[in-house]
Amino acid sequence: MHLEGSCHCGAVKFSFTSHTPYPYGRCYCSICRKVNGGGGFTINIMGDYDTLKIEGEKNISVYRANNNHRGNYEEDGLGFSRRSFCSNCGTMLWNYNPNYGQWFYPFASAIDTPLPVAPEHNHIMLAYKANWVDVPEGPTEKHYDYYPDDSIESWHKDRGLYDESD
Ligand SMILES: [Zn+2]
Ligand SMILES: [Zn+2]
Repeated sequence: MHLEGSCHCGAVKFSFTSHTPYPYGRCYCSICRKVNGGGGFTINIMGDYDTLKIEGEKNISVYRANNNHRGNYEEDGLGFSRRSFCSNCGTMLWNYNPNYGQWFYPFASAIDTPLPVAPEHNHIMLAYKANWVDVPEGPTEKHYDYYPDDSIESWHKDRGLYDESD
């Protein structure tokens, strides 16, 4: 599925192919809930990194956190995850981790193409949730203190939602 996204001020636009476009996973970790998400969580989808086309790349800044749940850092003391955002308006655009370099993880909030509606949701990293955030309950809502047991790809494939189109 071809998806297009942009920051709020329009200085950065991007497009890519996603086989896993359902915005089903909400991360409540201390990094995500601060850098993106007035609701106290972030939703990332996944795209093929080699299909990413960027307009206005010079307007992008990258944030790497110096603390994370796994305590997993590069030699410079910063985490592997690279969160790209617009230097002008601050919109979070995507997350990228060179250890999983085939993919990148656009923030659903930056996507302009209408995304399909997820039939179920994963709520992850709830150990780090802010106390004021209400988490939906019910048969379609799965809850995890830390990471889920499925990958973004397997979640889509298990439900017949994996999108084969470019
Ligand atoms: Zn912007
Ligand atoms: Zn997170």
